[in-house]
Parts: sequence; C-alpha cells; structure tokens
Amino acid sequence: MSVTIRVAEHAGACYGVNRALELARGCALEHAEPVHTLGPLIHNPIVVEELAEQGVGLAQSLDEIDRGSVIIRSHGVVPQVIEDARARGLSLVDATCPYVKKVHKAASNLVHEGYDLIIVGESGHPEVEGIVGHAEGKAHVVASPQDLDGVTLGKRVGVVVQTTQTAANLSAVVAALAPLVSELRVVNTICAATSERQRAAASLASEADIMIVVGGKNSGNTRRLAQICHAACPKTHHIEDAAELDRSWFDGARLIGITAGASTPQAHIERVVSAIEHMTAQS
Ligand code: SF4
Repeated sequence: MSVTIRVAEHAGACYGVNRALELARGCALEHAEPVHTLGPLIHNPIVVEELAEQGVGLAQSLDEIDRGSVIIRSHGVVPQVIEDARARGLSLVDATCPYVKKVHKAASNLVHEGYDLIIVGESGHPEVEGIVGHAEGKAHVVASPQDLDGVTLGKRVGVVVQTTQTAANLSAVVAALAPLVSELRVVNTICAATSERQRAAASLASEADIMIVVGGKNSGNTRRLAQICHAACPKTHHIEDAAELDRSWFDGARLIGITAGASTPQAHIERVVSAIEHMTAQS
C-alpha cells in the first residue's frame, strides 16, 4: 500500500518569526557580549533551547540583563521597554514584526486624531499589551462583541486588530459598533499568515487519514491548528518534536498530513517528515 506524506500548503514559521530568529542568531554571532531575548523569542521550547545553545539567552525582565544586547520579540513591546533598555545602556535589536509595527502606528495615529480606540484582540496577550502601550494606554481591548457591553465610547471610534484575529470576529465587532457611533474608522491589521495556515490545515485534514501538527504546546496558534485539524480528522496528534512520533499511529494510513504553527521553523517540519518517511518505509 502506498503512503503519501503531504505538508499543508501554508505551514510553519511565518515571515515575522523567521526574521526574529535570523536577527537573534545574527546578533549572537556578531557580539561577544551576552545576548538575551526579553521573554521567549517564540512559543516553542525546542527553539528556545536551540537559541540558548547558539548564545541567545532568555531573560524575563530587563532587571536580569546587566550588559550586552536585548532582542525585542516579534510580538513587540510597549515603548517604555525600549526606552528603559536604552537608558540602561543595552544595545537593542528590535525584532518586532513589521506587520505588528503597522498596528502600533495605526493605533497611535487614531489616538492622536482624537478617536476612541478599540483593539480587537486577546486582553493580556503580549502583542495586545504592546499595542495598548503605543496607544498611550487610551484603548479598550475587546475579544468579542459581548465585551462592548459597559464600554463608554465617544462619537468617533477607531478600530485596530491584533494580527492573529479572524476576519469574522473583526466583522462581528464592527457590526456591533456601527449603530453606536457616528464615525467609525476601521484599520484592518489582521496578518494573513494565521488564516492561511488555518485554511490550508483544514483543507488537508479533510482528506488525510492522520494529521500531525508540529509546534510548541504553549503556542496558541499551534493549538488552534490542532483543534481545526481534529474537527476534520479525529486522528490528529500535536507534537513538539519528531521524537514523540509513534509508528503505530500510521498503521493503515494512506495520506498522512502535516502542518505546523507559525512558530515552528522549517527544519523541525523537515525532521518530522523524514522520521515519518522512515517509519512508514519499514511498515
Ligand atoms: Fe508577523 Fe504575521 Fe507572523 Fe505575527 S503572524 S509575526 S504579524 S508575519
């Protein structure tokens, strides 16, 4: 019986994550002084370990870094963190994804133009905290239309969106806001990387006999991919590394689908593909 192993059309590390990884590794190669990321560079424990071996340490706050370079991760940070890092004489490598920077700029512009700002996103998420900071704290974070209950708004309201939100959720919030205000300015700052990965995963899972989802168990977008795949393909396994694969999973499978979260480097996907090739070649 022939077995096909297929990787989803869009899978694995997005532009912003690849860029952050390159900047971090480049910084460690170039500098003799310590290099730290502020918080894990991405939600992938294996990559964080690999970075440590390459000389990129992990600090949870600026207080843990006394010299060298600090890398700002792709989620971005509040402006105060950048100022504090400079004030401490640290050399700064800003790996904030350019798409996240667009949200910062849109949020800041809307606030300066006098709009009441709504951020559609997950309260407490580091990206959202960074956006709130760029809006000088003058923002309401709503995860869904229900969160608008009890929010007092002026007549002119501006909206920006956490990059990983869905278009459907943005539309629902905008539809709920429209009757409440006289002017509504919506800047759609959703990044296509997440929705592309979700669509491609759903499409592959609908055909596959088994789906393998590769990525950090602490990665929200990878867990979401696993849920999407599981809905279409009950034999879905979320793994962080090829070592977790079990040969018996593939018994009788003709099409094995693989996808990976936006924080999973290409090399990890390739390791999983070759491990599955090896396992299924022996069956
Ligand atoms: Fe940038 Fe989009 Fe990746 Fe977020 S998901 S880091 S916005 S490319």
